[in-house]
Amino acid sequence: MTIGKTQGYILTFRCVNCGKHEVFANYPCKDLVTADQIRARIYRVSCNSCGWSGDACGLSAIHISHTSELKARIAGQAN
Ligand SMILES: [Zn+2]
Repeated sequence: MTIGKTQGYILTFRCVNCGKHEVFANYPCKDLVTADQIRARIYRVSCNSCGWSGDACGLSAIHISHTSELKARIAGQAN
């Protein structure tokens, strides 16, 4: 597996604590996948606004977007 730009998807969730759309999760993948595959997973997430963290089901994502620069976003969420 070669590491170049990491492609994948970014899921946006509504925070269950503060209600803001500041909760993000990553679904790294090299190939295009269907939204169903992405939504079928559980993601470890945290809110950028209030700091809440927990598990979010992909089914509850309010937005899914594809990106070719996932690496930076992952690094930002690592801690
Ligand atoms: Zn929040």
